[in-house]
Amino acid sequence: MKTNYILLNIFVLLFLIKTNANCQTTTTESLKIRKIAITEYLKAMVDISNEKYDSAIVKFNSSLKSKPDFIEALEYRMICYGKLGKKDLENQDKENLAKIKEAKIDEEFIKDFKIFSESSKNIESDFHYEVYPNDDEGYFKRANEKSYDLKIKYLTKAIEINPNNFKYFKDRGFYYERTNYYSLAEKDYRKVVELNPKYELYEEEMQLLEKCNSCNGSGFTSTLVISKQKVNSKTKSSTNENKNPCTNCKNGKTFYYKNVILIREKK
Ligand SMILES: [Zn+2]
Repeated sequence: MKTNYILLNIFVLLFLIKTNANCQTTTTESLKIRKIAITEYLKAMVDISNEKYDSAIVKFNSSLKSKPDFIEALEYRMICYGKLGKKDLENQDKENLAKIKEAKIDEEFIKDFKIFSESSKNIESDFHYEVYPNDDEGYFKRANEKSYDLKIKYLTKAIEINPNNFKYFKDRGFYYERTNYYSLAEKDYRKVVELNPKYELYEEEMQLLEKCNSCNGSGFTSTLVISKQKVNSKTKSSTNENKNPCTNCKNGKTFYYKNVILIREKK
């Protein structure tokens, strides 16, 4: 009797877990589909602003494949067909629109549409670059981050998209210099001079710090002191560590000099 009860409980529990899991997959999946519809729509709008109507239609098609009753996508695809003189297709979309406008409004989709549209305008969001993958200036502005790693990461993205803007190399070179990657900085500075003749390279001796090898950066060298004491005819030995300040460095760091290539504006 008791076993049956436990088994029943397990079944109920498994059932609950399963339903919950199913429920979660459906919501994330439909969000994924909605996201595709909206992303394709936003990309198509970029094409329209560049008067690339054919390419916009391709994107509206995939948007409408995910969300067939996406009113804005249909409206703008209709406009594109009109621009290209495709009367039949334009009329077809017009009819579809009339039908959809009578149907029930999908509140959830409208909400997501607003959220994604807003997010696409925010250059700090990764979604922005899904819609505008060629926004090198966005990455350049985004390099206004606190961490040098992120600054370098976003400037590298900007350079990948547009390798002709000296500012990207100038900034990245500076951040490489700041993080002690002098040879990478030099590479970028050479690129700046190549792209903008207002700049020139110069060599400077820099005093740099590095971790002391003698004391491994601790600032102390330790010597082992073994002292032996005779206690009641038995010899006891004890080991002590003596810490002495390292004579090769200052607080664990040594200076060294290095010639580095930097950049400046021509006079
Ligand atoms: Zn040392």
